[in-house]
Amino acid sequence: MKKNKDRSRLYVIGYPVSHSVSPEIFQEAFRAAEMEVEYRALPVSPGDLSHEVAGLVAEGALGFNVTVPHKRAIMPLLDSVDHVASEVGAVNVVAVDEKTARGYNTDIFGFESSFDYLGVPDISGGSALLLGSGGAARAVAISLARMGAGRIIIANRTPGKAAELARTLEGLYPETELLAVDIRSELLKSSVGDLAICVQATSLGLSGDDPLPLDPSTLPGGCFVYDLVYGKDETAFVRKARDSGLVSVDGREMLIRQAAGAFEIWFGMSGPLEAMRKGLERALGCGNLLTR
Ligand code: NDP
Repeated sequence: MKKNKDRSRLYVIGYPVSHSVSPEIFQEAFRAAEMEVEYRALPVSPGDLSHEVAGLVAEGALGFNVTVPHKRAIMPLLDSVDHVASEVGAVNVVAVDEKTARGYNTDIFGFESSFDYLGVPDISGGSALLLGSGGAARAVAISLARMGAGRIIIANRTPGKAAELARTLEGLYPETELLAVDIRSELLKSSVGDLAICVQATSLGLSGDDPLPLDPSTLPGGCFVYDLVYGKDETAFVRKARDSGLVSVDGREMLIRQAAGAFEIWFGMSGPLEAMRKGLERALGCGNLLTR
């Protein structure tokens, strides 16, 4: 009996993790699907990661989400990592079966599967500007290359990290032209040209006081602006891009979709998107996700 009870348990592990909106997204999903599954936030410090992961596997939990700062560090602790997560170099979902822990990355799925819903145009053969070179930017870069972007300009505050990401992509997707630049450089302004999409994947924008990583009004007309950052209200980057006449969206739908990807890995069926949006609306205290 105990085993059955434990199998209906899921977690999100991170440090800190109290800010995570995942519990409300999943609790709403389980309510809608009439499933008796517990989903809890579990703070796990970096020093306790190995021990805590072993504990979750041993107790027979169904799995867990992984958030900052463990997305990379968890990889060697798992029995296997699927090829998408290996390419990205980060795991955000773990499924446990018969004490075997498998790692996945659903950020790519979240990003790509949001395109139709958000009206993102086909980017194949087009140019993309990617701001940032952290974990989320890595997933987006691979996604853009997989979707056939002809050219990806990676702009980052630490240009060495942009160059490293470009080198990784060159090896995996040799048909995509890559350019790595300092986000503040004049070279960025002169090399942008026509753009199908600009993806904002720096962590700027989480706080209202943050500067913009780049002035969206300098982006060319027709460029679709996708900011990965999300909060109660649309971000300043999205607002400024829209004020400049560009179609722009924030990261809330991607967040829902990466959660739906996790739901599918754990339960083998599609996550209830409307319920998950409702959960996110409640967690953030916003009210405009269902009215698109
Ligand atoms: P990381 O910490 O891995 O990367 C942060 C990035 O932001 C780096 O490129 C960093 O540059 C850049 N950056 C940080 N501060 C500044 C600054 N002051 N000026 C310029 N650049 C800066 O974070 P993640 O990649 O994991 O996450 C990035 C954002 O994406 C977060 O806001 C996160 O919430 C969001 N996200 C959204 C998802 C969604 O589903 N919507 C999914 C995953 C992430 P440098 O290399 O120089 O340090």
